Amino acid sequence: MVFKSEPLLLMPQTGLTSFIFSNPNNVADDKPIFIDAETDKHITYGQLRNLVFRLNHGLRRIGFKKGDALCIYSANKVDYPVIVHGTVAAGGVVSPANAAYTAEELAYQLQQARAKYIVTSEENLKIALDAAQQVGLPKKNMFLFGQKAIDGVLPYTQAILADEECPAEEFDFEEAKSTTAYLCFSSGTTGRSKGVMSSHTNISTNCLQIAQAMKKHLDYNTARFIGFLPFYHIYGLSAMIHLGAYWGIPVVVMPRFDLAKFCQAIEKYKVTIAHVVPPVLVLMAKDPIVSNYDLSTVTHYQCGAAPLSAELSMAVSKRLNSKCVQSYGMTESSPGSHIQPLDNETHGIVGRMLPGMTAKIVNEDGKGKFKPLFAAVGLGERGELWMAGPNIMQGYLNMPNETAATIDNEGYLHTGDVAIIDSNGMFSIVDRVKELIKYKGFQVAPAELESLLLQSDLVADCAVIGVYDDSQATELPRAYIKVSSGVPENEETAKALIKFVDQQVANHKKLRGGVKFIDVIPKSAAGKILRKELRAMAASEAKQS
Ligand code: AMP
Repeated sequence: MVFKSEPLLLMPQTGLTSFIFSNPNNVADDKPIFIDAETDKHITYGQLRNLVFRLNHGLRRIGFKKGDALCIYSANKVDYPVIVHGTVAAGGVVSPANAAYTAEELAYQLQQARAKYIVTSEENLKIALDAAQQVGLPKKNMFLFGQKAIDGVLPYTQAILADEECPAEEFDFEEAKSTTAYLCFSSGTTGRSKGVMSSHTNISTNCLQIAQAMKKHLDYNTARFIGFLPFYHIYGLSAMIHLGAYWGIPVVVMPRFDLAKFCQAIEKYKVTIAHVVPPVLVLMAKDPIVSNYDLSTVTHYQCGAAPLSAELSMAVSKRLNSKCVQSYGMTESSPGSHIQPLDNETHGIVGRMLPGMTAKIVNEDGKGKFKPLFAAVGLGERGELWMAGPNIMQGYLNMPNETAATIDNEGYLHTGDVAIIDSNGMFSIVDRVKELIKYKGFQVAPAELESLLLQSDLVADCAVIGVYDDSQATELPRAYIKVSSGVPENEETAKALIKFVDQQVANHKKLRGGVKFIDVIPKSAAGKILRKELRAMAASEAKQS
């Protein structure tokens, strides 16, 4: 069965910057749009537009060309959106990097994205300089948030913010469809992290799809978002930097999650919609701190980026007397593809597919081996979710084979997630068949950790999977290890391997699920790791303990 969502009523006709500043809600220039929760400083709607067009001017002055990539390597800042929209206005490509990356991880992204410029923060500068040196990116192309020059790196406000505005690079309909605006990184269904090319049209269409789906549920005049989700992940980028600016909804910006500060900010700024991930909801459902604050302005908690159980969602709704709904999507779908309507409070579903999309639920058995057996199943039956629509990425940068393995000839993105559609057109995500592990909404690519582990003399072979930790509502990366001959399978070896990995990766990739020893890594005849068997093993171990 091919499943179609409702038609999309509007298609964007311009480049992304003109779209974002088209001001459909007639927002006044003096309305605060990005507010710093720590300092209370804010950028108004009019200031945002002015800063974006001044940055566009300044970038051109230093020789920034259409198609040049700029990497932002920083935790959330109130002026992060200025760099994002300013770069896109100059016809550039924004590649936001995880602020917790090590120098090697950042260098990998800089090199893949062929980034020519970096904007970073004081806290991240040392690592940024190291990574820039590794890929030969000159110091003169690095800029800082803030007002201080450090180590010869100038603040962007001094170096590339011109006094005069310059209008955005304009694109017609066809150019907007074929011009990349973002390169976020995702491992997709297999392998290492890849640059996801999202076009101007992918991103602006996704705003329109969400706007159409949410229209009757949102009061743009009173809505307020809270933005602790990292802006370098497409979920934060989309919800705060695109939709906040497009709708003119104030976003209270936090550099990272802290429960007390989160609750305090909700109370102080009367936040109405809180975009969250499942581990945050565990705290909202249980932590006593929550009771110290008045959170009654929040009409709903919008949860995405990882699986959320019906029980947890229900517990949040009950305790906070607020709605708790889900959305689903991927970096590769720019990112939203499903959103739960606010008038449907069923817990555990991800809701309806956004307007203008088509989906199939495909029998997951025999995947890859028996193509003729692929069959789209009907309502109520589980299978891999394939979806097509104007928000599906252009492809993976410089990786035609990986792109062809992910988007088929008919334009369907093979999500690697297992879904069920009910008779009301509501989707549930019930499993995952791809390698990807999600730690608190952050991607961990098993292939990356496996290749690191194989560099250790202690390891003959290995496989990494995610094991679910109910108490934190997240998966934890766990390594199964076949030791090299003569290496003892004991706690000391396990600790040494955990340390070996943890020292070389960003915080979210650490082997929090531990190390288990195994005689043989289960593999198919073609040498592919049979992760399903390892997951089953982990599940039965969990039952026994
Ligand atoms: P990312 O590209 O980092 O946004 O990761 C996308 C993946 O996160 C999806 O393919 C799913 O595996 C997972 N995901 C996102 N939202 C949800 C959700 N609401 N429920 C279950 N899994 C989700």
